[in-house]
Amino acid sequence: STGDIKILLLENVNQTGQDILREQGYQVEFLKSSLPEDQLIEKIRDIHVIGIRSKTKLTEKVLREAKNLLVIGCFCIGTNQVDLEFAAQHGIAVFNSPFANSRSVAELVIGEIIMLARQLGDRSNEMHRGTWNKVSARCWEIRGKTLGIIGYGHIGSQLSVLAEAMGMKLIYYDILTMMAIGSARQVPTLDALLQEADFVSLHVPETPETKNMISSDQFQQMKTGSYLINASRGTVVDIPALIKAMRSGKIAGAALDVYPNEPAGNGDYFNSQLNQWGDDLRSLNNIILSPHIGGSTEEAQRAIGVEVADALVRYINQGVTLGSVNLPEITMRSLTLDEPDHARIIYVHHNVPGVLRKVNEILADHNVDKQITDNRGDVAYLMADVCGIKDEDIKIIRDSLDALSSRILTRILY
Ligand code: NAD
Repeated sequence: STGDIKILLLENVNQTGQDILREQGYQVEFLKSSLPEDQLIEKIRDIHVIGIRSKTKLTEKVLREAKNLLVIGCFCIGTNQVDLEFAAQHGIAVFNSPFANSRSVAELVIGEIIMLARQLGDRSNEMHRGTWNKVSARCWEIRGKTLGIIGYGHIGSQLSVLAEAMGMKLIYYDILTMMAIGSARQVPTLDALLQEADFVSLHVPETPETKNMISSDQFQQMKTGSYLINASRGTVVDIPALIKAMRSGKIAGAALDVYPNEPAGNGDYFNSQLNQWGDDLRSLNNIILSPHIGGSTEEAQRAIGVEVADALVRYINQGVTLGSVNLPEITMRSLTLDEPDHARIIYVHHNVPGVLRKVNEILADHNVDKQITDNRGDVAYLMADVCGIKDEDIKIIRDSLDALSSRILTRILY
């Protein structure tokens, strides 16, 4: 029952997320910080669910001790801190929240477009140093200017909506054919976008294809006096090429929120010992440098709390893996637990030949309402809703499934 589920939430995960879990009647323990490894191992033995952010490392060593763990909620974007493969091999689902901060990033970019067009960063820096320097040369309105969006996914398409409302013309480039929003127009090549745009904003993922996607050749294609904004990933822009393009006056301004090597924590970063390009970047005019804050808002944190907590509840109560980063994504209509003879059987297993036949033999005497199975690499996830089940049948089914050599995990919800 839900009252038996023990949850440990670390690293001060958002209150909204906590509330959703508590409302379910689960036993929730909340800690503001992460735990040293030995204490983490001690605690993880006992719990069914753990909620973390980026500091808690769920390595194989830690997860080996997590004998009762069903699911991990990463209340953040990244999942590098978790050994996803080990978790999958032990039937532990992992969820995160990749898109809850899209709007926050899009808003930041809108702000930066205006700041760059008005050289606002430089004017503000001058005032901070005590200097009044009123300038209108090469300062522009953004109305009627063309914004070129590279990568028209969650963030790129949000940005499209906001920029159009500001009176900008919109073009975008994506490897996929994407439906245009408003009057935006997809262009066939990256060069076509670079040649036409007054502002270029990057919203692609980090992949081998996007590494140094914007380098000397691409700056050549861009209009003289155009602007570049990168709030995607630091590997996408060739920094020395950007420095050169800005020094030559080809590029009139840039905003960087992400960098090739980002530090793990706050503190010194852009000095010559720590960063080979720091001094050069800091010496340029009209460049906005921010420390990877595109998605860092209270709203995004709340949205992450809701998205991950909802995914955990769906997984605990229904076995639904939609949005999981390490198990096959399986969903089925809600289980009707109020009907006494219904049960949902979840069988996570190694993807070897003959498993379905054996499972179906075990279920053969019962009325299988619906059954779905899918695999991700070596791990497969089977979900079957069965009716006409008596209490004594449940134990027999569980024992029979547990006895199969392919078994990773058996769960029966009833
Ligand atoms: P998304 O997956 O929704 O969209 C990415 C788009 O890029 C997709 O439409 C995809 O087809 C396209 N794409 C992929 N490879 C491409 C290529 N080689 N050329 C052209 N288009 C290509 O992702 P999203 O949520 O919009 O995020 C975009 C980027 O923003 C990611 O790199 C993400 O990590 C980053 N991000 C940064 C912050 C921040 O704080 N600055 C916050 C959130 C996300």
